[in-house]
Amino acid sequence: MSKSVRVRFAPSPTGHLHVGGVRSGLFNWLWARHTGGVFVLRIEDTDRGRLVEDAVDQINDSLEALGIAPDEGIRQGGEYGPYLQSERKEQGIYDRYAKELVEKGVLYRCWCSAERLTTLREEAQAKGVAFKYDRFCLQESNKRAESEPHVLRFKIPEHYDNSKGLNEFVNWDDAVRGEMSFALKDLDDFVAMKSDDFPTYHFANVVDDHLMKISHVLRADEWLPSTPKHLLLFAAFGWEAPTYVHLPPVQGPDGRKKLSKRDGAQSVQEYITEGYLPEALRSFLASLGWNDGTTQEVYSTDELIKNFTLERVQKSPAKFDKERLTWMNGYMIRHMALPQLLEHSRSFLPASSSGSDDKYLLEVLKLVQERVKFLNELPELTDFFFEDPKPALNAEDAGRLPAVTKTLSDSDFSESDLESRLRTLAEELEVKPGVLFSAIRITITGKKAAPGLFETLHVLGKETSLRRLAKIA
Ligand code: GLU
Repeated sequence: MSKSVRVRFAPSPTGHLHVGGVRSGLFNWLWARHTGGVFVLRIEDTDRGRLVEDAVDQINDSLEALGIAPDEGIRQGGEYGPYLQSERKEQGIYDRYAKELVEKGVLYRCWCSAERLTTLREEAQAKGVAFKYDRFCLQESNKRAESEPHVLRFKIPEHYDNSKGLNEFVNWDDAVRGEMSFALKDLDDFVAMKSDDFPTYHFANVVDDHLMKISHVLRADEWLPSTPKHLLLFAAFGWEAPTYVHLPPVQGPDGRKKLSKRDGAQSVQEYITEGYLPEALRSFLASLGWNDGTTQEVYSTDELIKNFTLERVQKSPAKFDKERLTWMNGYMIRHMALPQLLEHSRSFLPASSSGSDDKYLLEVLKLVQERVKFLNELPELTDFFFEDPKPALNAEDAGRLPAVTKTLSDSDFSESDLESRLRTLAEELEVKPGVLFSAIRITITGKKAAPGLFETLHVLGKETSLRRLAKIA
C-alpha cells in the first residue's frame, strides 16, 4: 500500500501573502482532498530579522477566506505540532537533530566572521565563480572553543547515493520537472544552524517535513536550487525524502515579469471585499499551472478535487490575468441559482436595501444577474431599486413625462401592458420609442444604462414609478 498523503503549505511570515503565493496552498489542498489526505499549515518563522507583524494571522485568514483552511495548523492543532517553527525551536527539536549530525561528522562548526565571508564572496564574484565556503574552519589549526559564537555548516559529500548507486550529482525525479540533477561540486557547505541558535530554512524545513510525515512537497519552483540541499539532509539522516512537485512560477499578464500589485497581486481578503467569490478564486488559481487536458475554463470545486492530478501540473510559467478572473467570476454569478446569489450579495447590496424583503431582493437580483462581474458593483447597479434617484433631464424630455404618467396610471404594471402603452404613446407623441424610453429610464433609475425598461418598471411597481415620474413632470 502506498503511504498516505500528507502535504504542507509552509509560508514564511515575512510579508503579506498575496493570491500568487496562496496558489501553492491551494495546490496542496487540492492534492490532499483528491487523495483523501491531510493538509498541514506550517509557519516557517526562523528568519527572525524579516518577520512581519500580523503575517501569521493574515496567512490563516487568507486560507480561511479562500475556503481551504488546513486540517492541521496553528489554529486547528494536530498531533504533529507545534506548527510554528519558533515554538519547535523552543522545544529543542532542531538542536537535537543538529547534534545528531554533528556527531556523524556531517555538520561542522564554523567561526568565520561576517567580514571574512564577505571578502570570500567578493573574491568569488571578481573571478566570476559561484561562492563556496573554503572550509577554513575544518582545519584543526583554525578551530576555536565551542563556547565562541559559531554556525553549523553542512559538509557537502563527494557522492550521493541515488539508490541506483553512488553519483557525483544529487538527482531526483520531480513529479513536474522530471529528472533533475545538480553537481555536488557546485554546492556550497550551507549553514544549517545559525549563530542565534535558530535553524536555517533548509534545516528546519527538512526536519519538519520528516517529523510531520510529509509525503509530497508542492512548492513554487523558485525553491528548486534548495532541493539538492534538502535531499542531502534527508540522506544524511537516513530518512526517506518526500516526492517533490515544483510548481511553475506565476507571472504577470505580459508573461515576462514577476507578478506585481498592478497585475492584481493583492490578498485573498481584498478580492473577497471586492466581491469575488471564493469558488471563482479557487477555479482561477487552480488554472495557474494546472489543467485537466480539456478546454473547460471554469471548474466547480468538486470538479477540481475530482480532476486534480500531479501529472497535469504544467512546467511552463502561468500567467496571472485579472481580466480572466473577473470574467470567471461573472460567469459563476450568471450561472448561480438566485437564492444562492442573494446569500452572497447581502453584504454588498446598498445600505438602503435593508428594509426590503427577500422577495423584492430576488426580483432585483434577477434583473442585474447578467451584468454583475463582481459583487461590489451591486450598489451602483441596484441603488435606484431602493432609493429615488436624482435624474438630470432636458426640458424636451421632461415635457413628455406628464403624458407618460397619465397612461401609466391606468396600467396594471404587467410588463406586456407597460410595453404596449408606452409604444402607443410614442406613436401618439410622434417620437421614436428609443427616445421616449430613454427619458423614462433616466427618470426612474437616474442612469442611462439599466436593466430592461419594462422589467424595471414592473419590479419598482406602480407607486414608486409614478412618484418618480411625477417628481420631474
Ligand atoms: N518557507 C518557504 C516559503 O516561504 C517554504 C518553501 C517550501 O515549501 O519548502 O515559501
